[in-house]
Formats: sequence, structure tokens, C-alpha cells
Amino acid sequence: MPHDLPKAYDPTAIEDHWAGYWVREKLFSQPTPKDGGPESRPSFDILLPPPNVTGNLHMGHMFEHTESDILMRWHRMRGERVLWIPGTDHAGIATQMLVERQVVSEGSTRQQMGRDAFIKRVWEWREHYGGTILSQMKRLGASVDWGREYFTMDERLSVAVREAFVKLYEQGLIYRGAYIVNWCPRCQTAISDLEVVYDEHKGHLWEIRYPVIGEDGKDTGESLTVATTRPETMLGDVAVAIHPDDERYTHLHGKKLRLPLMDREIPIITDDWVSREFGTGAVKVTPAHDPNDFALGQRHNLPSIDVMDDTAHINEQGGKYKGFERFVARKEVVADLEAQGLLAGIKDHVNNVGHCDRCKTIVEPRLSLQWFVKIQPLSDKAIAAVKEGHIKFTPEMYAKTYLNWMENIHDWCISRQLWWGHRIPAWHCSVCHKTTVSREDATKCAHCGSEKIEQSTDVLDTWFSSGLLPVSVFGWPNIAVENRADFDAFYPTSLLVTGFDILFFWVARMIMMGCWFSLDVPMADESPRSLAESVPFREVYIHALVRDANREKMSKTKGNVIDPIEIVKQYGTDAVRFTLASMASPGTDIAFNVARTEGYRAFANKIWNAARFLFLKMEWSGVEPWVPDSLEQFLPQPDPETLGVPIEDRWIFSRLNACAEQVNRAIENYRYHDAAQVLWAFFWHEFCDWYIELKKLRFQENSGLNAGWRNTLAAFETALRLLHPAMPFLTEELWQRLATDRSTRPVSVAVAPYPQYRQEVTDYEAEREIGILQEIVTMARTLRTESKLDPKQLLEGALYSRTAALEVAQRHASAIQKLANVKLDFKAEAPPKASAIRSTAQFDLVLQVPKTQEDAQRKRLEKEKEQLVKNIANSNRQLGDEAFLAKAPAKVVETIRLKLADYEAQLRKIDDAL
Ligand SMILES: [Zn+2]
Ligand SMILES: [Zn+2]
Repeated sequence: MPHDLPKAYDPTAIEDHWAGYWVREKLFSQPTPKDGGPESRPSFDILLPPPNVTGNLHMGHMFEHTESDILMRWHRMRGERVLWIPGTDHAGIATQMLVERQVVSEGSTRQQMGRDAFIKRVWEWREHYGGTILSQMKRLGASVDWGREYFTMDERLSVAVREAFVKLYEQGLIYRGAYIVNWCPRCQTAISDLEVVYDEHKGHLWEIRYPVIGEDGKDTGESLTVATTRPETMLGDVAVAIHPDDERYTHLHGKKLRLPLMDREIPIITDDWVSREFGTGAVKVTPAHDPNDFALGQRHNLPSIDVMDDTAHINEQGGKYKGFERFVARKEVVADLEAQGLLAGIKDHVNNVGHCDRCKTIVEPRLSLQWFVKIQPLSDKAIAAVKEGHIKFTPEMYAKTYLNWMENIHDWCISRQLWWGHRIPAWHCSVCHKTTVSREDATKCAHCGSEKIEQSTDVLDTWFSSGLLPVSVFGWPNIAVENRADFDAFYPTSLLVTGFDILFFWVARMIMMGCWFSLDVPMADESPRSLAESVPFREVYIHALVRDANREKMSKTKGNVIDPIEIVKQYGTDAVRFTLASMASPGTDIAFNVARTEGYRAFANKIWNAARFLFLKMEWSGVEPWVPDSLEQFLPQPDPETLGVPIEDRWIFSRLNACAEQVNRAIENYRYHDAAQVLWAFFWHEFCDWYIELKKLRFQENSGLNAGWRNTLAAFETALRLLHPAMPFLTEELWQRLATDRSTRPVSVAVAPYPQYRQEVTDYEAEREIGILQEIVTMARTLRTESKLDPKQLLEGALYSRTAALEVAQRHASAIQKLANVKLDFKAEAPPKASAIRSTAQFDLVLQVPKTQEDAQRKRLEKEKEQLVKNIANSNRQLGDEAFLAKAPAKVVETIRLKLADYEAQLRKIDDAL
């Protein structure tokens, strides 16, 4: 029987079932529009930031997916053409490292295997393990279109990568050049500035004397002292720089120095960049191993001498130090300088050392031949797109962060010395030494026709391919008119939901590449595309970070990582989603607390129990749920006998309407916490605590059974739809059980209409009336608790009012009596003096506390008073004791003061009551 709900709410069972159902039924697939042009229906589409193929779902993902999924389900239920595209990133460095480790553990290396065999191995790995995170997403019910899943190394996406490279090259926007890059000697590749993490290190500043050479080519006996944190790099020094106005060194202008250990003559140069205050005011210049020195070298036309190999061992340019690892070389260099009396001093020095984000190896700034994107024209468009308002950021402050970065951006080094990734489509000729860049695999040199060509061994930076995703997932560059339906319908995407950590890595690059490449794609009507229509997304929503309950960042080293899958197993996906949503206000980090999840599991349970009750009554009364002609309407129906609509039905529909208005507005503005709060309050208090309780009384009276139940079920059905985006599984389960007549209903609540505010449903009169009833019942309950009376004991009392409230209260006398267990008289007069009284502007409620209770209560109160008086005297004595005050910590004294104030307030209350 569909209505026979199991007693206990067991999220695991229902969630597994519906997660499978949604995928099987392809409920969230959005096929390519057939007519080739955009339909009239508004579309809402987003790209899932592709997780690394090596990844497991972490709390950050779960949070991001919860926010996205709430939005997507909401838009879908509003009847929009919704598309959410999933996929994974091939994650060059991460994946190569992982598979390499496996290979090493089997006693081999990637070099022994060779490039082709190793890549084959990576593909095998991906086949077996690469889908973890997406299966986790399936289980958590993410409403993505699984039919459109992509992988950044897929054939069609690789075509886009090659096209983008070749096109930029042809446009003169890709070049190859020597440049200082961050080199990871372990990963043996250049890494981006963004992939370098800086740590403070306690190191040293070595001061080294460089002898000055006289006119005769012999040492003059004078020397110039330079300071360095990396003495081994001196092997590659080509000059020493001083400030032109530094009077200490004026006499050395134009002179030469003898580079110690290498016995090389190097010039003294002058440059405004040199700081006179730092160290000795003289700096060694090593263009091949320092970015500032590289710039200096360029300005002064100096050679660059690279003294290290790919593994950061000294190479043949380092003289007798050849073969030493860089830190061993450092020790040797320092020892030799000392032996030669050239070490002027060693000072302790704290400096920021860059580490490879992947493997934590210290990064070596190093000159190497790399491929670059000339960023200028691309960044200009990307800046204009945001400045002109074609892309909006939420929270707004990120627009400034973005612009600031984009305005100071350098050329982008896109080559990586890895094997796993998109290999650069450039072939070097060993005859004419020129390079051929080609869309097709080249077999001959384009310049001299020689067949002695070899493809570049480098691959492209992973972000080069993921930066193209907004155009490539919709078919670019293959966008002849007949293949352009997806592009026409879905580009630009509506929104990007992502974290701050990839704002520059990914968001900025998608904007640059999206604007650049889509500009050539005409609009559906063949008109040229404007910048406004060439942006990859119209809006970027940057979500917060999930931290632990103590607001600490989660990290493996701290051991405070919360695994979302574990929490989901314990409490269910819905409760975890609701926790995250309830704390997600834009710009505020989340302190994830399991106690809250436990609370929201109880919330789900409460709804479950309400459903059980309703379903039981449904069976018993034989009433099928009322199915309105359209789910978009939710007006309460009149009772067929009395033709009136019961007041509590008018009230709950009116409240539901208000709730719908607030939730719609909240989701629209990414105020997930507001939406969660409104939904929670509605279900917990209004629906379960009041409405169902009122309904129970109505059915005890046994009037209006049919119409009443139909309204109750219709309200519940509407409320389930309202809750669906936040708690998809629970609502699907209950909604499916409620819907007996499948023929007139959508197949899932996920594709049913979302309740919208409708003015005609608002019923202020009903809200006022039930409001008065709630106030009276709540007050009577409070008075009873305060008097510590048995809840089962019927109390007598009276309600005094000279307003319309009196008549309302009178009408609900029976409900008040049953809900609060008080029997009231109703009097249109002023209240007498009484101890058990509560007042509002509209009425006064007086309860008669029985004599026996009064005596018992008096005795208890007197006892409490005695104790309080003692406590107060105690506190006063302590606070008057000078010796104690002098010794006690301020915090202790403050606590005593607070306690005293509290005792005094309690005493006043007891005195009043007595
Ligand atoms: Zn590394
Ligand atoms: Zn050639």
C-alpha cells in the first residue's frame, strides 16, 4: 500500500532508491533543442566546476553541489529549460603523480615504461577509478544531465584545445620564449604562480666578498660585498648591481669584479631598481635563477647562465660543483668561500620560500624555454566584460578582486613538462630549426619540407583546456549552423557557482577564452555576437568555505576533516544538505556542526511522522487526495455540506503562500539560510504543531471530513513541493506516496511546478484569527509551566477583552480548551488583580491556580527564596572582600557579579508571585 509508511524514517533506503530512479528515468537530461534556435522558454544552465578525475567528494564539493542543486531544482520546477553539465578534469600533475607512484611501487618508472605505455596506463587507471566522485554525486542526487558528462581529454574537447592553440598561434598570441618559471624539481615541470605556496623559512643571509679588478686585470685588494639567501646560485652570476646614486660605490662605476669560485669577470652595473637599504646595497645578478634578476638582465643585455638541470642538480655550467644536488652544492659553496676568506658574514634571515602545491618540494626559479599566451588582448576583453556589467559577481566584492588581478596579469605560461595532458601541437625541425604548428598531426616541416621533425614533448597547462569548457562543451569549434543548436540555446551559460580558490585559475581564464573564441560565433539569427553575448556566463556566485565546528579550516594534518559520505550515512543526505543550506549566507564561512545535522534529521523525522498520521487518516476516511486541475493553484476548497472553508484551512494556505513568497525570493538572491529558516519554521511550527493539531480536533468533531481532508492533503502536497529543492529525497518519497493517481501528475516532484505567491490566497482575516488563538494557547501553556502544574490537570480561567479578540476567542473556546487544557470564561471587562495573569494589547488571560497547588507552589517558592537570599548574601560578601578581590582574576569577579544580578532578578519574580 503506497500510504502505509514505515514507522521509522530511514534515509538510506529511500535515498538509494530515488537517486537510482532519477538517473534511470533521465529526469534531468536536457536534449539538444530540435528547432536549432532558442525556444521561447527561458533557459538556465550552469557548468559543474569539473572535479579532478583523481578526486573524492569532500565537504567543499558537497556544499557547492548543494547550493547548485537547490538552484537547479528550483529553476526546473519553475518550468525553465534547465541544464547542469557534469564532467571531470584530467588534472595533469595530480593524475600523473598518482599513477607514477603506482608504477614505482611495482618496481618500474615512467621513464622505463616510455611515454606511450605510461599514457595507456593512465587511461586504464581512469577507466577503473576515475569515476568515484561522479558516482558519489549520483548517490547524493545532484540533478545534472548525466547524458552530457564529459572528460577534458575526450576527443571532442581535445579538438577544441588544439583549435584554440593553433588559432592563438596564428593570431600571434602564442609564442615560445625563455622565461623565468617556477620549476618543481620533483614534478620536473614548470608550474604556475598560482600553484606555488609560500611558507616562512628560517634561513640565512650569506654575505660574500667579490674582489674588485683593477685596470691591470689584477685584484685591487678592494672587494664589494653582496648578500644572498641562495649562495649556490652565484655560480650563474653575470653581474653585480648597485644604485646609481649610492655614494658608497660611485668610484666603482664601470669596474669589474672577479666572481669567486668560478674565476669569471663580471661587470658592476647601475640600476634604479636596487635598494640602497637592503643588505649592503649591492646585489648579485643571476638572470637564469631569479625573476627580478631576469628582468634586470633583460634591461642590461646580460647573458643568462642556467647552472642547474631539471632535477635541481648543478650542471656543467657550475664548474667543479657539477652533479651536486642544490642544497649540497650550497654547503660546498659556503665552505669553499669560507676557506678562501671570502665569506664576510652569515646572518639569520626569515624568508618566504615557494613550494610546489602538489608535492611540497621547494620551487626553483629557473630559466627555461616555454610556451606563452600573450595575455594582453584577451585580458582587455575580459576586463571590459566585467566593467561593462556583462558578468555580475556575487558577493560583489569579488569583481574588484578579479579586476585587480586581471589588470596586473602577466603572460600565461601554458606549457608543462608532463606526459599526461594535451600534447602541444608544435613540431620542431632539426634541419631548419623552425617550428610547425598545425591542426593536423604534422609529418613535414612547414618551412623547409624536411621530415626530420619531432613533436614538442610538453603538454598544455590543465587550465588551458578547462578554460575552454564553456565553449567546447557546446560543440565549439565545430559550429557550422547545423551543429549549433546547443551553442545557440545554452551559450552564454547563466551562472557559475564556484569557490574563491579557483577565481584566477579557472574563472578568469574562462572569461578570457570565452570572450575571445565565441566572438566569432554568430548569433542564432546570424547577426554578429556582441561582447555581452560572448561572455561564458552572466553571473558568478562565489560560495564560502566549509570549516569545522570551531571555525578551523579542515586539513588532513589537523585531522579535523569531515567526510561528507560518512555524515550522510549517519544522518541522510537531506539532513546534511539542509545543514549546509541553513548556514549558507553569501560571504560567510560555514562552521559545520554535526549537532545541527542531528537537528535537521529530527526535522525530517517530524515531517515523516506528520505524513504517517495523514496517510493513516486518508486510509481510514477513504479520501483520495484532492488533485487540483493545475498544481499551480492551491486555493482551499469549501466544505460540500456547509459550503464554507474551514478557518484553519484558509490560514494554512495563506501561510503557505507567504512561505512560498519568501522562499522564492530567498533562493533567487542566494539567501539559502533564509530559505531554510522559513521552510523549517513553516513545517515544524505552523504545519505540524498547529495545523495538524487543529485538524485533529476538527475530525474528532467529525464534521467536514471530506473537504477538510482534501485541503489538508493539498496543503501538504504543496508544502512538499516547496521543500523539494532543499530536501529532495524525503519530499520525493512522500510525494510519490501521496500521489495515487499517476495519470494526472508529473512523474516526479522534481518536475512538478514550484509553488508561487498568489495574492488571492493571502487571507489576513484567517491569519489574524488563528494568530489570536495561538497567542491564547501559548500563554496558557506558559502560565501552566511557570506554576509547575501537571499538564493533564484541567485549569479554569477567564479571558478579558474589550476588543474583537473576545469574540474570536469565544468561537475557538473548544479548541483552546483541548490544546491548552484550560476552560475559559469570556468577559468584556477589565481583568481583576491576580497572580497568574498574562496580558497583550488585545486581551488579558487569567488562570485560577488551584488552592492545593497554590499552597504547594507557595511552599516551593518560599524554599527557593530562602536559597536565593543565601546565595545573594554569599555573593555580596565575596564582592565586599578586598583581599579576595585583589587576588581573584577579573573573569571570576565578573562571573560573581553576573550571578548576583541573576539571583536578584529571580528573587524579584518570586516575591511578585508570592
Ligand atoms: Zn612538485
Ligand atoms: Zn625545417
